[in-house]
Amino acid sequence: TTPAQARSLVAAIDQGTTSTRCLIVDDEARVVASAQLEHAQSYPRPGWVEHDPIEIWRNTVAVVETALGEAGLQAEDLAAVGIANQRETVVVWDATTGEPVHPAIVWQDTRTEEACALLASEPGRAHRFRDVTGLPLSSYFSGPKIAWVLDHVDGARERAERGELLAGTVDSWLVWKLTGGPDGGRHVTDVTNASRTLIMDLRSLTWSSELADHLRVPLATLPRIHRSSEVYGPGHANGPLPGVPVAAALGDQHAALVGQGCFEAGASKSTYGTGGFLLCNTGDEIVRSEHGLLSTVAYQLDDGPPCYALEGSVAVAGSLIQWLRDRLELIRDVAEVEPLAASVPDSGGTYVVPAFSGLLAPRWRPDARGVIAGLTAYTSRAHLVRAALEATCFQTREVVEAMRADTGHPIAQLTVDGGMVANALLMQLQSDTLQVPLCASETTETTALGAAFAAGLATGVWESLESVARCCRHGRRWLPDTRSTLPTTGWRDWNRAVDRSLGWAPT
Ligand code: ADP
Repeated sequence: TTPAQARSLVAAIDQGTTSTRCLIVDDEARVVASAQLEHAQSYPRPGWVEHDPIEIWRNTVAVVETALGEAGLQAEDLAAVGIANQRETVVVWDATTGEPVHPAIVWQDTRTEEACALLASEPGRAHRFRDVTGLPLSSYFSGPKIAWVLDHVDGARERAERGELLAGTVDSWLVWKLTGGPDGGRHVTDVTNASRTLIMDLRSLTWSSELADHLRVPLATLPRIHRSSEVYGPGHANGPLPGVPVAAALGDQHAALVGQGCFEAGASKSTYGTGGFLLCNTGDEIVRSEHGLLSTVAYQLDDGPPCYALEGSVAVAGSLIQWLRDRLELIRDVAEVEPLAASVPDSGGTYVVPAFSGLLAPRWRPDARGVIAGLTAYTSRAHLVRAALEATCFQTREVVEAMRADTGHPIAQLTVDGGMVANALLMQLQSDTLQVPLCASETTETTALGAAFAAGLATGVWESLESVARCCRHGRRWLPDTRSTLPTTGWRDWNRAVDRSLGWAPT
């Protein structure tokens, strides 16, 4: 490669819940190479979900090396690398040996529910957390998970207080490893990941010592908060990307917002992966939700003020399909879902409420559990699978309605991305349920693209948001069928099914 070409290539690491991907893109955001590896999901107890941070690091190294090899490139051909990561998943590790002291506690994990409920029972506490961080006091977020590790690993709290342990989300773990680990690794995070800890002040973008105290997380273990687009340090000589500027980190949903080019206030995107995540850019305004959404940092790409977003997250979307495959063994492969669901005209009155670990936005009901309602002798495998797809559509509609109520503006069009967009029937059902047109991006890899854009903006590959936006190309569109009964009787019966799921969890 010539130096001119070399400077225009950017790598993105998308460390997701189920897999780790590396994408290499050029300065028109065309994919030059990609590689992907899945990692193990561990469910040691009901409600617990863990990953092995060492396996995640090994997979990161492997996908970077495979992508480089596929394109015939060396690390020095890259202008920068950016990271998008599964949010709220926590790693705590030894600063000297680099050994994690516990498996990563994954965002879906509800083990801190009791601790959060206890905190919330103190007068004014929940309100204070919401006011400072924009978040409800929920086991979903990362701060309580860090405290759990410190409380349950022998000697961890003392070691943390002495500064011997480092804690962070997956972005922090990967940046530290990439920049040298115990040999000078940078312990940093970005504003988007920090905004999900329940510890960061949404206005000042700094750690709140008051909230850290309430959660019992020693500030000494936490990373420094940086912008989402900024050179954190060079890749270490012994790592997979020697000398390459590590120049971006964003939570995956925030990265997708950037990758979709949602830079204007009011622009929104919905991502359909393991979970479902709808974010609406609110510009420099922190919009406080009165309908169960949360306020978060959208991104901070330059030294100006950050952009904020309203968000509604759905815990179970694609993972319901995985559950049908792995636990019920109703299908062998996710690719069977679309033809099977299309083999029946509707779900036959069946509703699946996948409240496996409660319901997140907009209901925030940890006491809900899964329900399948409306079964008759007529119900077939195809009906169940179709109802599972509709569950994602209805849950997304709940969030869309909340957004409308909070912002006062209906969503006119929704840009969509994520692994489930491969299912065109699902997208049609979603458009029908919302009665809103959907527009997919050209690539499903918007998360990785967002990380690449942020890293490229920090290193001069792109000059401005306008030049980035020009690289965001649209793909397929879906228009709502106005005769669909999903928004009428479907929506009504979905809500009846949800009513049955509430309060089901043993107290
Ligand atoms: P993540 O980034 O959260 O790991 P992805 O965006 O890769 O997730 O999407 C994977 C999810 O999408 C899985 O949960 C899988 O079950 C679901 N999925 C993939 N293809 C289909 C399909 N054709 N129909 C329904 N669900 C699908």
